[in-house]
Amino acid sequence: MEPEEYRQRGKEMVDYICQYLSNVRERRVTPDVQPGYMRAQLPDSAPMDPDSWDNIFGDIEKIIMPGVVHWQSPHMHAYFPALTSWPSLLGDMLADAINCLGFTWASSPACTELEMNVMDWLAKMLGLPDKFLHHHPDSVGGGVLQSTVSESTLVALLAARKNKILEMKVSEPDTDESSLNSRLIAYASDQAHSSVEKAGLISLVKIKFLPVDENFSLRGETLKKAIAEDRKKGLVPVFVCATLGTTGVCAFDNLSELGPVCDAEGLWLHIDAAYAGTAFVCPEFRLFLDGIEYADSFTFNPSKWMMVHFDCTGFWVKDKYKLHQTFSVNPVYLRHANSGAAIDFMHWQIPLSRRFRSLKLWFVLRSFGVKKLQAHVRQVSKFFESLVKSDPLFEIPAKRHLGLVVFRLKGPNWLTEKLLKELSSSGRLFLIPATIHDKFIIRFTVTSQFTTREDILAWSLEREPKFAYSHAILRVLLFKCMSWQWPLRKCLCFYW
Ligand SMILES: *Cc1c(COP(=O)(O)O)cnc(C)c1O
Repeated sequence: MEPEEYRQRGKEMVDYICQYLSNVRERRVTPDVQPGYMRAQLPDSAPMDPDSWDNIFGDIEKIIMPGVVHWQSPHMHAYFPALTSWPSLLGDMLADAINCLGFTWASSPACTELEMNVMDWLAKMLGLPDKFLHHHPDSVGGGVLQSTVSESTLVALLAARKNKILEMKVSEPDTDESSLNSRLIAYASDQAHSSVEKAGLISLVKIKFLPVDENFSLRGETLKKAIAEDRKKGLVPVFVCATLGTTGVCAFDNLSELGPVCDAEGLWLHIDAAYAGTAFVCPEFRLFLDGIEYADSFTFNPSKWMMVHFDCTGFWVKDKYKLHQTFSVNPVYLRHANSGAAIDFMHWQIPLSRRFRSLKLWFVLRSFGVKKLQAHVRQVSKFFESLVKSDPLFEIPAKRHLGLVVFRLKGPNWLTEKLLKELSSSGRLFLIPATIHDKFIIRFTVTSQFTTREDILAWSLEREPKFAYSHAILRVLLFKCMSWQWPLRKCLCFYW
């Protein structure tokens, strides 16, 4: 492809993207395909000769789109939001063209410097403490963009582990690091994300998942007890991952209790606010941040709710040297005249190379401004919650926080399981389950900025109005507010 053709095809692609995102409402959310569906449509091996762009472009609708889950659809209610926005897309377009690998300051100074400045902006927007800022006289910390929260949590655990092992070496200089490692233990609540477990698997640090209170929150006393028990067994507590906004029910661990315990016991306090972090742009949600001053690291995903598309994960540490001592390697070919005077983000992460991710974040923060981002957060899923609450057949087994509503049918789990299956079978909307205390629940979150009240109501209200007559059927109609399907309705009548 020559530059002139790129200019034309690029414009066509932008038109296609615009059309796709503007009309995504009309596509079914989940595809109707079976594993291997693509095999028959593709040749066995790569073409020997060039194909025309027209052919390639035509295959997007033919081969790719039939197998896509449309995450930007207004009817996507599964997982957590993975929003995008026009300025964000433009940011990556430019970053992709520059395609620098900003591992050191010298490898592309703008890449490092924009990231440092934008991470400081973001920390201030969220009300994070000054110790997480690059540009602050009392701070030895700062923020960096990682690819995912999973990676950030692993990085935090590796840094905490290294730090503790160095501490242990003072009194046991002759003990092998691997045997010191084997005595370490870390903690998280039993509601924590699976990435915490994974970080434990990789680092060979044992993780103990602690029970939560009636609000699904991990409390200080529980942690304190666990630490005391483990110390008695000769283990060395090293790390706590507290979650703000759990994946199951969006619960919040109690930082103001966990913080002092970590402080007194010498544990690294890491905070996973993957989804909920965005909410802290609104001061009224910052009560969940009480105790943040005790944190050693904090991570959240602007790529979830903040309309910066994947990948974009903010990760802040209070002491960057703890990262350096964990990840520093210093081969000659990466040294530069400003080594030491400038930040080299390769010492803050697992890979060497890094994308120019801060561009899309910068574009989004500037295009929306803090006020518009706050307004975006404030339109949460209250409306859906009110629909569910208005029906006595349903229960909401955990308090709604932010944009996540969890609900189930009163009664045995199989009813809710059946309900979910029915809701999902048409592919017109996408919801996923979770369990809390052995109760099967359905998670509902508005993941698209295009979802309207009408979208939520319209699933099937207009169908079969004749059922509105009898009282029982009226309840069915209420159910239909949430996309009721025939077989389920039968099963419900049976249940009543
Ligand atoms: C989404 C989520 C994660 C995982 O995020 P990745 O960036 O995909 O690794 C971790 N923790 C919580 C609480 C989440 O909601």
